[in-house]
Amino acid sequence: MAVNRKWVLASRPVGMPTLENFRLEEAPVPVPGEGELLLRTLWLSLDPYMRGRMSAAKSYAQPVEIGGTMVGGTVARVEASNAPGFQPGDIVQCMNGWQDYAVAHPKAVVKLDPNAFPPTLALGTLGMPGLTAFVGLMDIGEPKAGETVVVSAASGAVGSVVGQLAKARGCRAVGIAGGKDKCDYVVNELGFDVCVDHKAPDFQEQLKAACPQGIDVYFENVGGKVGDACIALLNAFGRVPVCGRIANYNDTELPPGPDRMGLLLTQVLAKRLRLQGFIVSERWHRMGAFHEEAIPLIRSGKLKYREDVSEGLESAPEAFFGLLEGRNFGKLLVKVAD
Ligand code: NDP
Repeated sequence: MAVNRKWVLASRPVGMPTLENFRLEEAPVPVPGEGELLLRTLWLSLDPYMRGRMSAAKSYAQPVEIGGTMVGGTVARVEASNAPGFQPGDIVQCMNGWQDYAVAHPKAVVKLDPNAFPPTLALGTLGMPGLTAFVGLMDIGEPKAGETVVVSAASGAVGSVVGQLAKARGCRAVGIAGGKDKCDYVVNELGFDVCVDHKAPDFQEQLKAACPQGIDVYFENVGGKVGDACIALLNAFGRVPVCGRIANYNDTELPPGPDRMGLLLTQVLAKRLRLQGFIVSERWHRMGAFHEEAIPLIRSGKLKYREDVSEGLESAPEAFFGLLEGRNFGKLLVKVAD
């Protein structure tokens, strides 16, 4: 008899998560009720926001309960349908989380056309991460041709789209990534003007040289020393879409050192800067506008992407740790079933 394997949250991590924070459980495959679908997970998306869901700290979203199945975006196959308009074999985008099977209402899924695009794109460049790049860059960054746009985690799911959209708008796109391979990919494959390795000992000097006209838009994905270095180079009226702070997600306390909040606010005033945080789930209504811009770019080969695939549901926690340490190279996915 088929079983449903699922990764549940066993305990809340303090600092970097470990395997002890997860437990792989087995349960009977759920049975769909009237009007419902039984879904077989094929692909699981691993995303940095999942670190936040493991914490009970007050946030914009509810945490996963202890013993609850880890949340996550998925692509799944309809195994059984009690809902009109869905057949076994249909491919859908859904939120099954870290498990093999789930029951869902049709309103909670989006049917995909696997002949139009590889379905995994719905979890990456054409899905949540791509939309994040679009709304952060366009709605908050407001880039203009000729301006310098800098993005950190530039080879990743969000950052890769930010830089390519900025290029398509006639901007100078500067990436920041960890290591030579990622930087080479960002320039040679994605077409950024330049990419700076944040692990280089002279990172700050390299960043300054890469931005001779200063920075007009800094798309903040990581925080830490990378964020500090970029904010210091902002031009007057610079914009900072504050998208993510992955370098700080495992922090248990403020880093040591002097309080530099006053210095930051003085710069905000003197340079008339605009820093704005945003959460993509509050901007789903922009998906149509995003697809209007991104789909032709993908079809013409001007919006490229890379996927980093981890094999098997059992590999999910280890793969997730890699995301928090920069071991992924491109959009991180778990292949759960064929
Ligand atoms: P990525 O595919 O970019 O993977 C994460 C990358 O972050 C790593 O590969 C690594 O790249 C970089 N990184 C990790 N730790 C550090 C560190 N200590 N210092 C510098 N870089 C680090 O992930 P996503 O594209 O999915 O997410 C990028 C950011 O966007 C995250 O902060 C995420 O939380 C945020 N986000 C925010 C959303 C919102 O609604 N506001 C929605 C979606 C994502 P490298 O090796 O190049 O350093």
